[in-house]
Amino acid sequence: MVMQKRDPVVMQVAGQRMSRLFELARQRTVQQDSESQRLARRYIKIARAIGTHYKVELPKQMKELACKKCNAVLVPGLNCKVRIASSKKYVVYVCGFCSTEKHIFYK
Ligand SMILES: [Zn+2]
Repeated sequence: MVMQKRDPVVMQVAGQRMSRLFELARQRTVQQDSESQRLARRYIKIARAIGTHYKVELPKQMKELACKKCNAVLVPGLNCKVRIASSKKYVVYVCGFCSTEKHIFYK
């Protein structure tokens, strides 16, 4: 039996793999040695590649907490700054490595 890319089972497994990779990346980020930092970015990169390949949306928490530019996991108080935009319409996450801003809208 040939599995199709759009098969619900395939998409579910892809989603699980992305969540697991994000979990591992977050654990690695908290350990601050350079090898762990490298692995954390690698896990996020792989998770993104899985999402692109299987056309699955990234897990919500990963979308919000992974830097788009350098693939670092953003942990408030550790490697990123968090502030509320002056318009008060969104929260700004500033990556501590590449200073890329991330805007998370809230209601
Ligand atoms: Zn970054």
